[in-house]
Amino acid sequence: MLTTRPRGTNDILPGEISRWHHLEEVLRQVAGLYGFQEIRTPIFEHTELFQRGVGETTDIVEKEMYTFFDRGKRSLTLRPEATASAVRAFVEHKMYAEAQPVKLYYLGPMFRYDRPQAGRYRQFHQFGVEVFGTREPGVDAEVIAMSMDIYQRLGLKNLTVELNSVGCPACRRSYRTMLQEFLEESKEKLCGICQDRFDKNPMRILDCKNEKCQELTKNAPTINDALCDDCREHFAGVQEYLNKMGVEYRLNPRLVRGLDYYTLTAFEIMAEGIGAQASIGGGGRYDGLIEQCGGPPVPGIGYAMGLERILLTMEQQGIDNTSTKSVQVYIASLGEKARLLGASLTQELRGKGIRVERDYQDKSLKAQMKAANRYNASYTLIIGEEELKNKELVLRRMQDGSQEVIPLDGIIEYLAGEIKEGDDKR
Ligand code: AMP
Repeated sequence: MLTTRPRGTNDILPGEISRWHHLEEVLRQVAGLYGFQEIRTPIFEHTELFQRGVGETTDIVEKEMYTFFDRGKRSLTLRPEATASAVRAFVEHKMYAEAQPVKLYYLGPMFRYDRPQAGRYRQFHQFGVEVFGTREPGVDAEVIAMSMDIYQRLGLKNLTVELNSVGCPACRRSYRTMLQEFLEESKEKLCGICQDRFDKNPMRILDCKNEKCQELTKNAPTINDALCDDCREHFAGVQEYLNKMGVEYRLNPRLVRGLDYYTLTAFEIMAEGIGAQASIGGGGRYDGLIEQCGGPPVPGIGYAMGLERILLTMEQQGIDNTSTKSVQVYIASLGEKARLLGASLTQELRGKGIRVERDYQDKSLKAQMKAANRYNASYTLIIGEEELKNKELVLRRMQDGSQEVIPLDGIIEYLAGEIKEGDDKR
């Protein structure tokens, strides 16, 4: 226990961190480009927020939340997603009174007690955006276009946007009845979970992975058959914008997504070749959610993407963005006095923005030169007893092994002049 991390969690090790940094850089850059500002909400919220905001009958609320009581006996939950939190903050800080739309993005860990497997973890990271205050179909298209833009900048290929409209609450009510009527006769043949869903949330039956359930719902009516004129028009609008913007998509009338709060547009982005957990992002419109969470009737749309799955897909597609900044100067020193001088030079050079490592352990010169190579240093400064006496240092250029003796006085300026920005090996 002491030496293993909790199941479904990951350590992001130094060897992998540059892939994360690169991904996060692209995300923040694109968010800025599309006019989104970051919001950071707490990692835990009142349990009720997710019950209300995500929906009582969803898998997340029914079985995946990390819920606990704090010492004040309040029920709190580690956030399983961040839309509900963003909505809570939007209402709490009365952002609806500001100029609309309000465009927010977030980046951080989420927690779901799910069965871990490749691409599915109990603590994972999401980047997501929310646009509050507009129902315009062009915004739905823009949000989809933005997510595709991110994937493309990362170099990902073979992605499919799956698109659907899940209608407004009225369409969903009539669809619910249509679906229940269709499934009435075969109800007993559904899996146990779906029998339970039949009354509670029959649309979720379409999502079931059980083969029997999939077979039984193969010819079921789709939500598209139940869309009212208004929703139909909105859906056509989203498609028109996407066509104009050159974003390809595939209509999937069975796409319902797991969360209750979606209305109208629902979409999911699938990646080829990462197995069962193929969804690398998804989102949709949630026009009733803000009101449901105690705010005014403000429409909204958003999406979230899973960072681990993006990195997994990049790895599988052979996209390598690792960039480790190597050490520019290694300071080798022999003897106590030389080490002290090494420490002060290190400090001064770092002050000039130069990446420096030095020997801390009084190793032999041979071992220190080995270390300089291991660090992939561009230069090594060697401080020996003799050099100390003469107030000189040996500067070794690691690329060609050439060495020169230079005076200690002015060494910092000399090195700073040698190491120009262009020399910055990445
Ligand atoms: P959702 O909030 O369920 O719509 O998920 C949005 C995205 O987050 C998905 O497309 C995945 O990329 C990612 N995701 C969701 N659940 C997990 C999980 N348990 N582990 C890793 N990534 C996940």
